[in-house]
Amino acid sequence: MDYIRESRKRHATGTVVTLYDTNHPDNIFDPAGGRWVVVCEDHGAICNFDTIAMARFHAPCVEWCEECMGVNNDPDLYESIVRA
Ligand SMILES: [Zn+2]
Repeated sequence: MDYIRESRKRHATGTVVTLYDTNHPDNIFDPAGGRWVVVCEDHGAICNFDTIAMARFHAPCVEWCEECMGVNNDPDLYESIVRA
């Protein structure tokens, strides 16, 4: 089982989101909120999920990273990133 399950660049914000398994021996994250952890590598935002399916579903979203939410809430900036 791999510690890092997924690492992908989000098209909307240009940030990298990584999916971690807290059951892995190398784990450094608190598993209390859920086994699967998604991290916005650019902003350091962390969000726990109970299932890998939920984590995968939410990984491309910006609802759990305030910085990314800020980008999405700024129409001009969002537009410039999307069109870049
Ligand atoms: Zn972010």
